[in-house]
Amino acid sequence: MSKTVSFITKNFGKYDVSSIGSYMECGGFDALKKAITLSGEEIAGIVAAAKIKGRGGAGYDMGRKLAQAKSVIAEKKVVICNADEGEPCTFKDRMLLENDPFNLIESMIITGYTVDAEDGYIYLREEYCHLRPLLLNAIRQAKTYGFLGTNILGKGFNFEIHLYSGAGAYVCGEGTALIESIEGKAGRPRMKPPFIKQCGLYNRPTCVNNVESLSLLSHILLDEDKEYQTYGMGDSIGTKLISVAGNVKHPGVFEIPFGTTVREIVYDLAGGIDGDRPIRLLQFGGASGKIASSKILDTPYTYEDLKRSGVTVGSGAILVIDDRTSLIEFLQSTQEFFSHESCGQCTPCREGNRHMKLFLQKLADGTHTDKDIKSMKKIAKLMAMSSLCGLGETAQSALVSAMNQFEDVFHVKSSEVQE
Ligand code: SF4
Repeated sequence: MSKTVSFITKNFGKYDVSSIGSYMECGGFDALKKAITLSGEEIAGIVAAAKIKGRGGAGYDMGRKLAQAKSVIAEKKVVICNADEGEPCTFKDRMLLENDPFNLIESMIITGYTVDAEDGYIYLREEYCHLRPLLLNAIRQAKTYGFLGTNILGKGFNFEIHLYSGAGAYVCGEGTALIESIEGKAGRPRMKPPFIKQCGLYNRPTCVNNVESLSLLSHILLDEDKEYQTYGMGDSIGTKLISVAGNVKHPGVFEIPFGTTVREIVYDLAGGIDGDRPIRLLQFGGASGKIASSKILDTPYTYEDLKRSGVTVGSGAILVIDDRTSLIEFLQSTQEFFSHESCGQCTPCREGNRHMKLFLQKLADGTHTDKDIKSMKKIAKLMAMSSLCGLGETAQSALVSAMNQFEDVFHVKSSEVQE
C-alpha cells in the first residue's frame, strides 16, 4: 500500500485557519524571522539547492527564478501569487488555500523580501471566491502583527499584499493575461518581449509563482534536517501535491513522494476504478496535458519518467477515464473547452481549435480521410509553434498524443483513403 507524506501539507488541521495566534503557536512566521537574517541571494540559493521546480506547469527552476528576479535593478518590484487554478481536474492549490492560508501569506512575504519587492498580489480564480474572506482575514491579521506594512520586523523592509479576483477565464492563468486582468483590462496574453521579469504589472518588474511553489518556500527554509531531500527519485527531488479525479472511487488531493508509481496513485490512493472497470485513458496535467493508455501504470511519477512515457507532470492532475467514455467523445469535450476558452487574439489558436473540432466531428461520424489526418497533424504543429500563448501551444496536446497512443482509433479504411 502506497503512503502519502506530509511536507507541504504538514500544517493541515494543526491550527485554526482564521487565527494568526493559532498559526504562530505551531511555528508560524518562524520562517520569515529566519529569512530576514539572510540575504535574498542566500534564500534563492537554498531554494535552488532543494531543486524545486515551479509547480504551475512549466516546471521552471524556482531558485533560478528568484535569483533572476532579485538581480533586476529596479524599485517597486512586484510578486504575484497565481491562484487562478483553472486547469481542469486540478484542485490541489485550493487545498493549500483552504487549509494553510497563513503559510501562503508568510511565503509571499519571504518571496517579496528575497527579490526586493514592495507589493504582492494574489490573483484568485473567480470560482474560489468563497476563499476571499479567509485570505483577507489572514492579510489583515498579518498586518496587525507587523508582518506586512512598513519596516517589517524592524528590518526596513516594506511589503503589502493585495487580493484580486479573476472573472472565470482559463487564459488568465497565463502570466501576462493575469497581469492584464489585474490592470483592469480584458484578460488577453501580451506579446513577449518584454518579459514580465523586467516589465510586468503596471510596467514594474514582476515575479509570478504558483500557490504550491510559494507554499513550499517557508517549509524549505525551516527544513534544517533536509527532510525534503529524503523524498523523491533521480532528479525529481521531494514531494508533489497531486489531484486525482475522473472515474476513480476516491478522487482527491494527495501529497506523494516523487517516484510513487501511477498504479499506486490510481489504485492505492484513489481506490481504483468505479465498478472495477478497465481504464480507457489517463490524462496528465489537466486539459492541456497529454494522454496515455493504461500501459503507463507502472511508470514512476517523476518529471523524467513521465516525459519518457510521453506525458508531463504539468499542473499535477491525473484524470482517469474508464471504458464508458469513448476516446473520441473525450477529445471532443477537450477541444470544445479550448475553443470556448481561446481569447481569439491570434489566428493559429482561434482557427486551429475550430478545425480540430470539425476534424473530431468527422472522426465521430466515421467520415474522416487520410488527408484529414495529415492536415490535422500540420495544423497541430502550427498551433504549437506559432500561437501567442500556452493555451494555443497546448490545446492540441491531447489529440496529438491520442494519435500516437491509440493509432487504431484514427485508422482510415483503405477504401476511404483520399489524396
Ligand atoms: Fe488567445 Fe489562444 Fe492566442 Fe493565447 S494562443 S493569445 S488564448 S488566441
